Amino acid sequence: ARLRALRAEDTIYALSSGRGVAGVAVVRVSGPLAAPALERLTGKKPPEVRRASLRSLRAPGTGELLDEALVLRFEAPKSFTGEDVVELHCHGGRATVDGVLEALDGVEGLRAAERGEFTRRAYAAGKLGLTEVEGLADLLMATTPTQRRQALAQAGGALEKRYESWRSTLRSCRARAEALVDFGDDVEGDLSAEEGSKARTEMDSQLNALIGELRRALTDGYRGEAIREGVRVVLAGAPNAGKSSLLNALAQRDAAIISDVPGTTRDVLEVSLPLGGLPCVLFDTAGLRDASDVIEREGVRRARNVVEGSHVVVFVVDAAKIDEGADAAALEAVGGALSADPRPELVICANKMDLVEKDALPRRRAALVDAAPAAIAPLVAAAPLVAATSLDEAGVAALAADLEARVAARFREAGDEYEAPAITRERHRGHVERCRAGLERILADPYLEPELVAEELRAATDDLGAVVGAVDTEAVLDVLFADFCIGK
Ligand code: GDP
Ligand code: ZN
Repeated sequence: ARLRALRAEDTIYALSSGRGVAGVAVVRVSGPLAAPALERLTGKKPPEVRRASLRSLRAPGTGELLDEALVLRFEAPKSFTGEDVVELHCHGGRATVDGVLEALDGVEGLRAAERGEFTRRAYAAGKLGLTEVEGLADLLMATTPTQRRQALAQAGGALEKRYESWRSTLRSCRARAEALVDFGDDVEGDLSAEEGSKARTEMDSQLNALIGELRRALTDGYRGEAIREGVRVVLAGAPNAGKSSLLNALAQRDAAIISDVPGTTRDVLEVSLPLGGLPCVLFDTAGLRDASDVIEREGVRRARNVVEGSHVVVFVVDAAKIDEGADAAALEAVGGALSADPRPELVICANKMDLVEKDALPRRRAALVDAAPAAIAPLVAAAPLVAATSLDEAGVAALAADLEARVAARFREAGDEYEAPAITRERHRGHVERCRAGLERILADPYLEPELVAEELRAATDDLGAVVGAVDTEAVLDVLFADFCIGK
């Protein structure tokens, strides 16, 4: 809301490339004074639009030479923000960038841009839709090829198009529903009873098809969200089973504190770990058991939350030590998450295999099944069992391969062609879910009052509209742009 209050006619500037030493740094200026500001810094008429030109940049007060830079000029509305834009491609050193920014600050009418303000202006000018802005935000954060592909598709409008086509279906349903309302008001109206029921039937079949599409989007295994945020893999299990050691071996670096005092990993620790090039986040949890001290109890509570939001749970056991009490307590803690919907995949990892013979495994599994609460014992009995030794990287190769296959399976698609998921954020999911529920309420009752049908359709349309930013966008924008960096 604060940003919205800023006058759109302000001319803003910011460093748009990353901070730090670089070959080239790009400073962007946007607003009506962009070209005059360039004139002030160069002492020359601005170059032709969209033509790169070499210019000397000088401090407006002293005339001191700041840099020889490549400058570019765009004219409204054909620019990223839809306003007049100037780009200064300077040398990337700190002092150069600081000097140029300071020079721009000295030009009257210019001010430093707020976080995400360039993109916000592009959005306000209708250059980008809401899901496209979100895609752009994701693109800036993308670290794996899969994330890049998804973000690029979304930034390019793939999602916008999908939602717009759903919205257009709903619009046509609403037209039919309006006709039914008119019919209900006036028996002598334009529609005969037969025509009325035909309109309802046609609308129902349209709704049916749409609900099918929404359902497919909703049950895609959270692929879009998983690509965006990474597949969440949680290491759970009794204290001292070797979770932190496994995480270290998997991450091939010392990310976790390892100790043989039970309960040392009090908090949840996460490591971003691309598995086979796919984004994955690995969590190490505090030993799941009834902790006595307060800090540790908080750790256990957080650990449970993480397990609940995860895609894969690796339940780690000490292969050399059978302690049914500890196993039972840890299984009890993850039991709820394992029976939730959607249910995370369960993998049992028998760790410390250097201490036992391989043929000890069946007995260890049997002991674990015995310790499991009745509700999840069948899951534990059926879960794949992977042996590991977390003392070195080779000892976790089998576990890494198993996880890699699981992560890959989440992204595998029916065809070869990449199809962007319809839902990439929880925000979208909530709206699509509500939209589907509303439409199902209509279908469930063939005699629903036409006014109520119209009302449900209106609400459903609003929900899809909220995804693309047709309604209620301010709060979403505030959250979104808070995550943007300055200069974006
Ligand atoms: P956590 O409480 O489950 O996180 O367990 P830790 O990773 O802190 O390990 C507990 C103890 O078991 C430490 O002393 C580790 O050195 C030891 N340990 C972990 N993995 C192995 C293993 O594969 N083999 C052996 N022999 N010891 C291990
Ligand atoms: Zn630990």
